[in-house]
Amino acid sequence: MSAMTTRTVIDAGDGGYCPPFATAKAWRRFRRKVVETAGCSIWIGAIGDDGYPRFHDPAYGDEDAGADRRSDIVRASRWRWWAEYGPIPAGRKVLHDCDVQLCVRLDHLLAGTQSQNLLMAAHRDRTARVAAWGTARRDAGDRRSKYEQSLAIRDAVVDAVAAGQRDRHALARIVAAVLDAGSPLAGQDALFDL
Ligand SMILES: [Zn+2]
Repeated sequence: MSAMTTRTVIDAGDGGYCPPFATAKAWRRFRRKVVETAGCSIWIGAIGDDGYPRFHDPAYGDEDAGADRRSDIVRASRWRWWAEYGPIPAGRKVLHDCDVQLCVRLDHLLAGTQSQNLLMAAHRDRTARVAAWGTARRDAGDRRSKYEQSLAIRDAVVDAVAAGQRDRHALARIVAAVLDAGSPLAGQDALFDL
């Protein structure tokens, strides 16, 4: 932590810290799209149709991950890991060690293999929380439910902050409540089963 910085970082609580692989400009933009809770760090920026957070950084240089990964639009969680540790080894994915796809908290992320990812997903499938979002559905429905889940979390957090909520524990409870509430589509399974 540096006491010398004069950079303004909104609600970052990180003493002006900037990850070594990120430009200060990109880091500032990133931080403005994150709401810290007592648990996860929730992304309130763009969300892809897979439910994962999206971040645009022209300086992103994930060359080691292969040509198909050289886009400057990346998952914000992947960008966060890269910003801290540098190029992600080929074949590795940045995985969430929590249930929240919108989470960009560094210590909730790890760079693992696809098989580890599947193992973690299988473990989560056994939890009622994830089951409530219909992960056992066919791919199309599953993808939709994860997207809806991410939108619901983002909207709830944005609304709470707009209403003046700053307490990180309260914000974490709001995220948990959205997860526990299940998918807004839960009663519409028939739509996916036709
Ligand atoms: Zn998390």
